Amino acid sequence: MSKKIVVLGAGISGLTTAYLLNKEGYDITVLEKKNEVGGSMESVFENGYMFDRGPNSGLDTTPLIGQLVEELGLQNEIVYANKIGNKRYILRDNQLHPLPMSPPSFIKTKLFSGGAKLRLFVEPFIGRSDDGYYQSIADFVKRRLGREFLDYAINPFVAGVYAGNPEELSVKSAFPKLYALEEKYGGLIVGSIKSMKERKKRAEKSKQSARMFSFFNGMQVLPKAIAESLGEKVIKSAEVNSIVKENSGYKISYSNNGTAKEIECDILLSAIPAYSAADLFRPMDENLAKHFEQIYYPPVLVLLLSYDKTVIKQPLDGFGFLIPAKEKKSFLGAIWSSVLFPNRSEEGRAAFTIFVGGARNPEIGNIDKEILFKKVKSEFEGIMGIIGEPVFTSYRYWAKSIPQYNIGYIEHENYFDEFEKRNHGIVIGGNYRGGISVGDCIKNSEILVTKIKSL
Ligand SMILES: Cc1cc2nc3c(=O)[nH]c(=O)nc-3n(C[C@H](O)[C@H](O)[C@H](O)COP(=O)(O)OP(=O)(O)OC[C@H]3O[C@@H](n4cnc5c(N)ncnc54)[C@H](O)[C@@H]3O)c2cc1C
Repeated sequence: MSKKIVVLGAGISGLTTAYLLNKEGYDITVLEKKNEVGGSMESVFENGYMFDRGPNSGLDTTPLIGQLVEELGLQNEIVYANKIGNKRYILRDNQLHPLPMSPPSFIKTKLFSGGAKLRLFVEPFIGRSDDGYYQSIADFVKRRLGREFLDYAINPFVAGVYAGNPEELSVKSAFPKLYALEEKYGGLIVGSIKSMKERKKRAEKSKQSARMFSFFNGMQVLPKAIAESLGEKVIKSAEVNSIVKENSGYKISYSNNGTAKEIECDILLSAIPAYSAADLFRPMDENLAKHFEQIYYPPVLVLLLSYDKTVIKQPLDGFGFLIPAKEKKSFLGAIWSSVLFPNRSEEGRAAFTIFVGGARNPEIGNIDKEILFKKVKSEFEGIMGIIGEPVFTSYRYWAKSIPQYNIGYIEHENYFDEFEKRNHGIVIGGNYRGGISVGDCIKNSEILVTKIKSL
């Protein structure tokens, strides 16, 4: 308890861990480069619109989320997605098809051909594969479920979660639960049924059944509330620029609004992105820096478009839609934000959040954003049957968005473990370890706390 802990980065990973440690009486300080907290969780107000420029929602997969909401007094702020958000569309041949959610709708859907549907019956009889760390999610799905399922279900799904490319993501690193269904139970269909029963026993929710949540004033409400509860223990505009090993602890130098400062600690938790950690840890371990640098964060452009409802032909009865790469559009998909959550647009209007780029289209980094914007807007309006101009537009460009758990990612993870063993008191965390979703980052904080307490 007398140990001093410094957390680098006030994203949801760093803040949740700091919050839990603080509650147990540990002496903690959080250092955050920007003058606001939340990291990727950015909710801004523009012209009467609440624009979530990073995550638009989270999945309530751990009881810790409910606990945080209650302890921080956010019960009146949390909002759950409109039930019609369970309906998700996939684009095929320029038509939006609801993703089938039940056996009868699967039989009827035009999203998959008859051959692709029959192919699913073979799945239980396909044997286990070799090491999934070096197998892409694309190869895994092609082998188990067939090519069409990869193209029209998994490809868009991967774009929606990671802004990723299924040919590059490691199935075992990026989708460990999916891979475990094969590894543990021998197949996806049998495994889903058995693991559902086990989850019930542990009172856990699967990502499919967990409720989707946000906050009335956007996702950033949560990190802001955590930081507020920690008060002066969170130092903003504090960019860490060096870490030096000292006796049994560490000396951290940072620039606080341009003033050079130092802080000493026994335990250091790094919860900053891998690309930021690279330079910071280079003097301590060149190989660690190389591992950090190799983690790929593709660019993503997030657009907000709002229209009067009267100009939209497409019924707004779902979550939004995802676009398979095969459809050759210039964006990945769109969330119908104002359908899902309240306070996302004015009465009589609809607000849409559109995602462009990702590992599938990294060239967006070199394209003029105005030209890209026009192209995406025109394609989006075509798909949605919109005849009319938007009443409001905005965008946020992330040059480095989401870490990709690509093939061979296990080598980074093994090196992080090894580095932590060699450097007692340093813990490496953040969304490039143990899952990228907001829910996973929150869940992982409990693991980080256990690790820190054992030091
Ligand atoms: C566009 C986008 C859409 C997303 N959509 C979803 C979604 O819908 N649902 C979902 O569950 N997840 C989504 N995610 C993923 C999720 O938001 C992130 O994985 C998660 O918020 C990451 O949290 P983190 O704390 O690990 O890292 P970050 O949020 O990256 O926080 C790291 C913090 O470290 C700070 N920092 C960096 N360098 C330094 C330094 N030298 N000194 C001090 N501080 C430093 C940064 O300023 C930042 O605040 C999305 C992400 C993006 C980018």
